[in-house]
Formats: sequence, C-alpha cells, structure tokens
Amino acid sequence: MMLCRLSLFGRTSLKLVPALGCPSSRQKHTLPDLPYDFGALQPHISAEIMQLHHNKHHAAYVNNLNIAEEKYAEALAKGDVTAQISLQPALKFNGGGHVNHSIFWTNLSPSGGGEPQGELLEAIKCDFGSFEKFKDKLTSMSVAVQGSGWAWLGYNKESKRLQVAACANQDPLQGTTGLIPLLGIDVWEHAYYLQYKNVRPDYLKAIWNVINWQNVSERYQASKK
Ligand code: MN
Repeated sequence: MMLCRLSLFGRTSLKLVPALGCPSSRQKHTLPDLPYDFGALQPHISAEIMQLHHNKHHAAYVNNLNIAEEKYAEALAKGDVTAQISLQPALKFNGGGHVNHSIFWTNLSPSGGGEPQGELLEAIKCDFGSFEKFKDKLTSMSVAVQGSGWAWLGYNKESKRLQVAACANQDPLQGTTGLIPLLGIDVWEHAYYLQYKNVRPDYLKAIWNVINWQNVSERYQASKK
C-alpha cells in the first residue's frame, strides 16, 4: 500500500489505503546487506569507509529514490507532465546510486584479488590483449574521471565484446551507454578519502586486491544470455 492524500470533510489527511488512481502494489527499494563485514576488506578498504559508504551514502540513495518514485507516482496519477519531467534528475541520480552500489558491493570480496579464470579471462585477453593491459586501461580510466563518477567493465551485447567506460556522477552504465555492467569502480571521494586522502591512484592500486572475480564471471555469463 502507498500513502495517498485524501480529502475528507474539507481537510487533508494521510491514510494508508489503496485508492483509485494510486498503484497499491509498488514495492519500496531497500538497502541490501553487505555480503561481508565492514572490516572484511581491510587493509585495502577501511571499515570506517565501508560503514559510512554503505550505511550513509547508499542508504541515502535508496531513501531518496523511494521519495522520488512516490512523487512520480503522484505526478503520474495527476497527469502532471511538468512535475514528471522535473523529477527525472532525482530518479537518475538516486536510482543510479542504488543500482551502482548494489553491484559494487558484490564486485568486492575479502577473498578476492588475483586474476579471473576461464571464459572471462579468455574474453579479456581477446578484447584487451592481456589481463595486465585491461587492468591498466580500467585503472587509467578511473584515475581520469573528473570529479565524481565510476569506471566500468561492461559487456556490449551487440558486438559481443567487453568494453571499458566511464560515467559521471551516479549515471548508471546500462542506462547511459547500453553496456551491461560487470565490474564497477566507485571513484567518488566518499569511497576512499578517509583512508587515501586525495591520492586516488593508491586507492585504485589497492582495490584490485579485493575484486571478486567469481562475481564478475557470473555477471559475464548472465550478460551473454
Ligand atoms: Mn559510492
């Protein structure tokens, strides 16, 4: 059920009822649990960063996405196109933030690092020349993101090839480029500043030690279907 504004006897009150014109089955987004403890990625990513990043930053994207969707549902119900359009930036930013971080947590693991295996490794060699070349390319792209954003390894379903791409802010990879996201590197300062200060390259050097290649391989297999 969603909150619908009802006018009763000349006053406005909020009631939890499914009303005409209000979709009653819309699910609110929720913050997914981290698949490991906050301190599990140490020394590469500190517990303090992980706790704030997950409990404050990701949680804020989830809350603000729910608020934007609620307002959007109201605007749709009223046929208010202007209000619908003015909500687009909030939907993109908070929806992208939720989507991106939900992938990011699973891309990391305390038992990660090393190199991928099997088909993913073969595809990386085929499309980038070698694993080292791929790693250098994604690292350089991550370093070069101006301000806040993400760098990604993605799968291009049309060319059937792997590609790297950078996105500004919380722009989601698939919605922006069409690539299916496999591995995302968050280069917002909130992802590293408490530990690495302004030295983003040191954070990027460390993050390769906790990449969950099993998860990236599963995403690669699923993206090809
Ligand atoms: Mn982040």
